[in-house]
Amino acid sequence: MPEDKELILLIEDEPQMRRFLRITLQSHGYRLVEAATGQEGLAQAATRNPDVMLLDLGLPDLDGLEVTRQLREWTQTPIVIISAREQEQDKVKALDAGADDYLTKPFSAGELMARIRVALRHAARQTAGKQEPVFILQNLRVDLAQRQVFVDEKEVHLTPIEYKLLTVLIRHAGRVITHRQLLHEVWGPAHVNEVQYLRVYMTQLRHKLENDPTRPRFFMNEPGIGYRLKFDPEE
Ligand code: CA
Repeated sequence: MPEDKELILLIEDEPQMRRFLRITLQSHGYRLVEAATGQEGLAQAATRNPDVMLLDLGLPDLDGLEVTRQLREWTQTPIVIISAREQEQDKVKALDAGADDYLTKPFSAGELMARIRVALRHAARQTAGKQEPVFILQNLRVDLAQRQVFVDEKEVHLTPIEYKLLTVLIRHAGRVITHRQLLHEVWGPAHVNEVQYLRVYMTQLRHKLENDPTRPRFFMNEPGIGYRLKFDPEE
């Protein structure tokens, strides 16, 4: 296994799930370190310095939410939550506590690889300390330096709130962002529960920027959790 490929820390207690993830990750050339408990995961995170962490929410000792909180006290390494469907509320809490993204079991190898690519890309940009001045997604082009938005090379006028919302989604491109995080970043801390604002403004963005607003390709709803600007660095 080449030494320069990214190292992934997998914190998961289920042997079957670990086996699936081990086979998938290693077949894509990633290096892997495994932990079966939250405490072991915290210790491995500190000593092995992984590039991405995959974290199960239901662990036998500490739960994944607590592991996320403890990790975020000292590291910004991307955390992708892997959870069962019934852990919806915990998933939102883990994302609000600083996890980067999530996968709901069962998920495909393709979904897993896409999430890892997005997480690595985001981490690389954070390290570089800058965002590309122009964001391109299919027929959508956003010039972040000039504050201009184009669809099929025709300029589209956005209101200040629509534009702010779009730039927050771009900063998180490919990753889920919770309702609470979006409301906090766009409207401020006093408005974190006004989920209806998001519904209204997301509809407006879809009408202005999607070819077919009723079948969005970019602005994806993540039911009960938040939104995701659909983006894969490999496409
Ligand atoms: Ca588990």
